[in-house]
Amino acid sequence: MTVRVRIAPSPTGNLHIGTARTAVFNWLFARNQGGTFILRVEDTDTERSRPEYTENIKSGLEWLGMTWDEGPFFQTQRLDQYKAAIQTLLDKGLAYRCYCTPAELDEMREKQKANNQAPRYDNRHRNLTDEERNAFEAEGRTAVIRFKIDDGQQIIWQDLVRGKMSWQGSDLGGDMVIARTPEGDEAFGQPLYNLAVVVDDVDMQISHVIRGEDHIANTAKQILLYEALGAAVPEFAHTPLILNQDGRKLSKRDGVTSVDDFRKMGFTAPALANYMTLLGWTAPDSTQEIFTLDEAAKVFSLERVNKAGAKFDWDKLDWINSQYLHHMPVSELTDLLVPYLEEADLGEYLGDRPWLESLTELVQPSLTRLTDVVAESELLFGNTIELDEKATKQLQTEGVATVLQDVLKAIQETGELDVDGCKAIIKDVTKAHGVKKGLVMKSLRAGLMGKLQGPDLMQSWVLLHQKGWDGDRLTQALGSI
Ligand code: GLU
Repeated sequence: MTVRVRIAPSPTGNLHIGTARTAVFNWLFARNQGGTFILRVEDTDTERSRPEYTENIKSGLEWLGMTWDEGPFFQTQRLDQYKAAIQTLLDKGLAYRCYCTPAELDEMREKQKANNQAPRYDNRHRNLTDEERNAFEAEGRTAVIRFKIDDGQQIIWQDLVRGKMSWQGSDLGGDMVIARTPEGDEAFGQPLYNLAVVVDDVDMQISHVIRGEDHIANTAKQILLYEALGAAVPEFAHTPLILNQDGRKLSKRDGVTSVDDFRKMGFTAPALANYMTLLGWTAPDSTQEIFTLDEAAKVFSLERVNKAGAKFDWDKLDWINSQYLHHMPVSELTDLLVPYLEEADLGEYLGDRPWLESLTELVQPSLTRLTDVVAESELLFGNTIELDEKATKQLQTEGVATVLQDVLKAIQETGELDVDGCKAIIKDVTKAHGVKKGLVMKSLRAGLMGKLQGPDLMQSWVLLHQKGWDGDRLTQALGSI
């Protein structure tokens, strides 16, 4: 079988994490099967669709490394195909015009509610006579097109994730609207989701529909449409929803929804793609958790997608991200860090690439997210420091000033300085003053960095020395005690 799958986002918002995860599963499946991955933009909701969201979706997929083989196709450019399908259904007597007004539909629902019945359309215009139809039109009513759904039938499919699925026709809410007729328009100008999706999936020869389980009820309706249009029904695979810590669907309230949000928070594309792969799928070697999309594609199968909802685990995402950051080539990581440093107004210090890469090397092991670079490195920029309370206290400890004066002298006499050179200075000063090495180190940290915690002292010192900032800082520290 030729595998053809699609991701079909609606451009009514930025690329959503749920859509991105659905894209991951489709992409992995396509690549595993040597198939085709298609991008289709479902933009029929003209009021809420925006070109900038389409751009965001495309750039988000590209950022994550999921290139598409065909498309993007736009539903708004395929209205003729939908109209033709609607006409076919009308001609076959499988669809009809319904003239119910919103007030009539409301009343119907109110009655059903009062009788403790689930709201549904009661199919009242299914068998209108020509006279009745003409009368409604003479009244100026506009029609919608409804597709007939027999209550008595059972819709069964073998879901590739969930196994045998079965729906009763009577649970689908009555004959379904497949198109609206805009005011004053003779034709059915506004195809609705289920119809458009089926027409597209047929035309694009989609072999497998892989999407979130929130579409299960749509699948039942769509299978009826495939059959009505005389088309082959594709395979379906419904993937578990992404849940928050409380077991509810991940939503805006959880603070993040779009892939952009994750990018801004300092997650890298391969780490996020890696994490999304694990959101509902387990590798054949279940101990393996770090892999690129290409590596995952080699072993991906829908059988290993879980039925249960996938809980979003921030700690795990952080851990995966840190793995990528810790193992990334320094030059690549430096490129990724620069925008965050620029945003923190440190742009003026970023011109010296070798120095910047040494700084990257220094902070690399302590990064979990790219954003951490600011906190991890901010003490290393510039020739002035701010002493915090503990550092001030340390500098005021008896004997410290004279020790640091000697260090300062050594700094001023030294040209290039490496970690061994730093160690030698500390050793000499320790010996000369007959103090503990720990005291010298702690005081030096206070004097160079203004704080008692921070990145590796010797390496930091080397970086400061390369810029000539160590002497200035120590002078300033000594002057303030
Ligand atoms: N536009 C739909 C969505 O974004 C697509 C669903 C489907 O894959 O059929 O949820």
